[in-house]
Amino acid sequence: MWISYNLSTMIGKEEFWADAKNELSKIMQAISYEVWVEKLEPLCFVEDTFVLVALTQSAKRTIDDKYLKTITEVVKSLNGAINSVEIITPDKKDEYLKKQTDFIPGAGIVVDNRKKTAETKTKNPFVDRYTFDSFVMGKSNNYALLAAKTVAENPGGKYNPLFIYSGVGLGKTHLLHAIGNYLYKESPRTKVVYVNSEQMVNEFVQMSMKKNSTESNHFREKYRACDVLMVDDVQFLAKREQTQEALFHIFNDLYQSNKQIILTSDRSPKELVTLEERLRTRFAWGLTVDINVPDTETRIAILKTKAFHEKFNLSDEVATFIAENSTTNIREMEGLLNKIIFFSSLTNHVIDTEELAREALQDFIEEKDDTIDASDIIDTVCKYFNISKSDIFSKKKTKNIVEPRMIAIYLITEMLGIPLVTIGQMFGGRDHTTIIHARDKISEALNEDKRMKIVVADIKNMILNR
Ligand code: ADP
Ligand code: MG
Repeated sequence: MWISYNLSTMIGKEEFWADAKNELSKIMQAISYEVWVEKLEPLCFVEDTFVLVALTQSAKRTIDDKYLKTITEVVKSLNGAINSVEIITPDKKDEYLKKQTDFIPGAGIVVDNRKKTAETKTKNPFVDRYTFDSFVMGKSNNYALLAAKTVAENPGGKYNPLFIYSGVGLGKTHLLHAIGNYLYKESPRTKVVYVNSEQMVNEFVQMSMKKNSTESNHFREKYRACDVLMVDDVQFLAKREQTQEALFHIFNDLYQSNKQIILTSDRSPKELVTLEERLRTRFAWGLTVDINVPDTETRIAILKTKAFHEKFNLSDEVATFIAENSTTNIREMEGLLNKIIFFSSLTNHVIDTEELAREALQDFIEEKDDTIDASDIIDTVCKYFNISKSDIFSKKKTKNIVEPRMIAIYLITEMLGIPLVTIGQMFGGRDHTTIIHARDKISEALNEDKRMKIVVADIKNMILNR
């Protein structure tokens, strides 16, 4: 299989990373997310690896150990063309920038089998776990599943275009990848293009900026030259008249030559009022199906399938508990299961009752916050700056004491949420306005001063890993 990466497409690593962070923030414990993930800087792509920079060597170590797997999984699920994530330290930046590839995966996934040659390596760009087999059927999604299967078996046939709509996290992207995976396996000569409409807009904007006609032809060519075009989340085309116009022409070309078009959105074509009328009507020419919120039974079946893939022994009681606590978004529900799996592997405990599950989810969310107290923070700050506790509580105004004191105060307010007056008392009867001043001063410095950022991040790491 040949994957032709579109070199001229310039989707930013920033946008891509912003999407990934958004997903990570949903599944990670808030404080770990903030300390470890939020601070990573997206650097570049080196072939199919996404390179991120950690502030320090110790941060890199912790992230490699604890979070790399989750980060990689999320990144891969957002773009099947990326296969791994690497965390580096700032001193390695140049080295990696020299190696960086033009390949910007945001262009979407282009699988062109027609260029297949003996020496081309075979690689499937679609997320492996998003298949028809792993998609659990229920009353809420059976039409969408059947339609997707029919289209995969006979692209350009009965249902063209196929339009799937639903709320977030209910399986649209999963179905598109399932079609992609199916075609990759069963019909390797079919050229499949998958793109998120947001990426399409960005690509279009980038190309128009170049004012280079071969570039904009390239845009049209790329999308016109496929057998199956999948555009995910078309609602993002709202108010993007020019991209809509381009898509309109692509749509007509493909449609006339019986090529399959598949679209998804968070609402029906009729409700896409911000889209041009002529596009809306075309979207509704073929078959429109929706996916609803699955019933409890289906949600439990989804959890069981997922647990099976993760080789996790999920009891009925825990499955029911999770299914009843997350009702409208499967991605969110999977997040709860992931936390349980993670927690049980971390503690080596079997979690098979509702009570244990409830405890695990609660612990997971509040674990760290509960156990850290002000003296942990103060001890760590003193250790970091190599000063004594009596100094930090004293009235000394020398810079080497004042700064650690303010950092300790900042961290206590931020990590513990203790009343300011109490903190004032802790620090030798200082007024609460002094506490506010210290907190704001550090908060401000964090925005401007790189050194401060590193220092505070390091101390936080030490506190969390103590
Ligand atoms: P959407 O694109 O509609 O926002 P996704 O396709 O990203 O939703 O689905 C969110 C998550 O839920 C994915 O991990 C997906 O595998 C899972 N999921 C959704 N529906 C099902 C289903 N019927 N069976 C198994 N997993 C599902
Ligand atoms: Mg989606």
